[in-house]
Amino acid sequence: MEAHILVVEDEEKLARFVELELMHEGYRVSKAANGRDALDMMLSERYSLVLLDIMLPGLNGLEVLRRIKNEQALEDVPPVILLTARDAVMDKVAGLDAGAVDYITKPFAIEELLARIRVALKLQGQIHQNAGSSPVGDADALCWQGLSLHEKKHEVRYDGQEITLTNREFLLLKTLLENRDIVMSRDTLLERVCGYDYVGETNVIDVYIRFLRSKIDEVFDVKMIQTVRGVGYVIKSE
Ligand code: CA
Repeated sequence: MEAHILVVEDEEKLARFVELELMHEGYRVSKAANGRDALDMMLSERYSLVLLDIMLPGLNGLEVLRRIKNEQALEDVPPVILLTARDAVMDKVAGLDAGAVDYITKPFAIEELLARIRVALKLQGQIHQNAGSSPVGDADALCWQGLSLHEKKHEVRYDGQEITLTNREFLLLKTLLENRDIVMSRDTLLERVCGYDYVGETNVIDVYIRFLRSKIDEVFDVKMIQTVRGVGYVIKSE
């Protein structure tokens, strides 16, 4: 089945250019020129991926992303790549924190955009495949102290309290839990979490580690993810 991509961009020329390039690559493409239309379309149709501009009239891209995350079950939310005209770190962090799988700064080379789309679609396919093949039940949870991660249910809890993670945060935590007591390098983690042909910034793992710590370590007052200076990260068995 061909991937169906929603392009949300109010600059008509850029939207048209991206649409033509994507169609040339064999994708099916729909377009929205403002945040409200984008939200309506995402609620009524299931897209394979959404390219979402941040600066939009009416409802901005981050707000669209937050609302779609609130309205839909996690498995129904398509991967979102944010387009941002600004190169501000805050925008990127806010975007990733709101649940985007990636971001790209305008102006961008179309080849870079296409590469990121391929990675995001592949990652989404892997998540669905994993979800379908792993067995159910508590025995299959990955645990650390009060924390449990259920791959099948895509669920993480600490002392029974549910923790909401983005797909990449979930993959990162799962990778660290599966490799307990083994120090994982940033490169290895990047490959596992973002795919081997990821072309974005390499410090993205540090950003996700920070998100995980703010959602788990800080909230439950534990020191789960250890930094090994100059090497990477590890979760140690207690
Ligand atoms: Ca715009």
